[in-house]
Amino acid sequence: MTVETKNKTYLNFVNGEWVASVSGEVKTNLNPANTDDVVGAIQMSTKEELNDAVKAAKQAQKAWRKLSGNERGAYLFKAADILENKLDEIAECMTREMGKTLPEAKGETARGVAILRYYAGEGLRSEGDVIPSTDPSALMFTKRAPLGVVGVITPWNFPVAIPLWKMAPALIYGNAVVIKPAQEAAVTCAKVVECLEEAGFPKGVVNLVTGSGSVIGQALTDHPDVAGITFTGSNTVGKGIGQGCLARGAKYQLEMGGKNPVIVAKDADLNLAVEATISGAFRSTGQKCTATSRVIVEADVYEKFKEKLLAKTAEITVGDGLSENVWMGPSASENQLNTVLHYIEKGKEEGAALIAGGDRLKGEVFDKGYFVEPTIFENVSPDMTIAQEEIFGPVIALIQVNHLEDAIKVANDVEFGLSASIFTTNIQQMLSFVDEMEAGLVRVNSESAGVELQAPFGGMKQSSSHSREQGQAAKEFFTSIKTVFVK
Ligand code: NAD
Repeated sequence: MTVETKNKTYLNFVNGEWVASVSGEVKTNLNPANTDDVVGAIQMSTKEELNDAVKAAKQAQKAWRKLSGNERGAYLFKAADILENKLDEIAECMTREMGKTLPEAKGETARGVAILRYYAGEGLRSEGDVIPSTDPSALMFTKRAPLGVVGVITPWNFPVAIPLWKMAPALIYGNAVVIKPAQEAAVTCAKVVECLEEAGFPKGVVNLVTGSGSVIGQALTDHPDVAGITFTGSNTVGKGIGQGCLARGAKYQLEMGGKNPVIVAKDADLNLAVEATISGAFRSTGQKCTATSRVIVEADVYEKFKEKLLAKTAEITVGDGLSENVWMGPSASENQLNTVLHYIEKGKEEGAALIAGGDRLKGEVFDKGYFVEPTIFENVSPDMTIAQEEIFGPVIALIQVNHLEDAIKVANDVEFGLSASIFTTNIQQMLSFVDEMEAGLVRVNSESAGVELQAPFGGMKQSSSHSREQGQAAKEFFTSIKTVFVK
């Protein structure tokens, strides 16, 4: 289909105009499945250009916040229709830019449409409580106020859904936004911003500035006129953003890494557990924050589960995500591929046993891309690096335990707490897992990856700043409560 983005350099979108950076510096994004395919380029903007965007957003927010929720919602509904019409084109761009398969990219873009519609409807929802005063002649109630300008800093792994699940609630509650997407998938994100432009948002309400995290992301974090930062990405970067915001009293929301376990109890439906493990660990080439990376199996069913898991893994077709029969695409970048290969080496060095994959894929189909085999280690002890650190690639660490209590202990014994699943048919075990598991998303007989847009999303421990995104929970971050007392 279209190669419409080829060689196109995306400009910044500031105050309703597409503007060129004075830096003259661009980053060209290549297809990680075939580096001969140029997807497009983005600008490496300057700090001053970010300042211009914040200035425009600050000015525009004054009128935007005065519109009714219904009026703001109308822009979001329109943007949803435009995105829906461009779904195929944007999904294809996503596959070419960061490698996930076309059906996954289409699913993500459709999710973006649904997010816009969900938050468009939020414009008409009640936004406060009437609270009985001890003074019978007084009226006391709460109402919500927008923060002002919100800085949106996003990763490359969901270049449509994550920007939208941050921008849509920010906008509906009356904030103006400046988004700085990850360079690696910024062309796709710029195409989403084009949809917002076409929807006719007032000038300056939505702004896009591309560039490096250390320049543009940092400047957004430090800017005195940015009232809140919503960030998704790695722990290292997230912690720095949190500290920066804390120092100047800005609100922040950090969604970071995971080391998500799946527990397979001896009474589990093993076929279901295998399907969910394969999908959770290898879909999107393991590059989801909720991806399954540890599988903790009760000894009684360990060999049987392993055998079924290996058989299913052998069926996985790896290749260019644009091809119809491909189930798993490449790593999103050379950097990402090298990180995965580094962890595979680490696993071998520390004495884990490689039982599937473990290498870069070679051959004519693969040599121009960043392909790695779906990989499984066994004999993994819970303290090994591959059982503790986020890999962000298609690597499973299989851990055998004698009892379910040990499984939950091992599952909790990491610094992250994003998502966790159990496979069991025993209701008591389900309930005890739900109670004991230190994770923001706790799933029973269902894979660790995935979440519905109307439900709160976020993690415990080092996975999150403990706020929640999506659903009604998003309102907590994107607004402040005012308590009003009228006498
Ligand atoms: P990253 O932290 O490298 O980058 C994320 C964003 O931060 C990018 O836009 C980047 O340019 C920017 N950035 C980098 N340095 C910065 C700085 N000093 N100041 C401000 N911004 C800066 O993450 P990534 O590699 O793009 O994404 C992968 C990570 O994202 C993984 O750790 C994954 O678990 C996490 N993730 C988490 C969730 C979640 O909801 N919990 C979802 C998706 C991805």
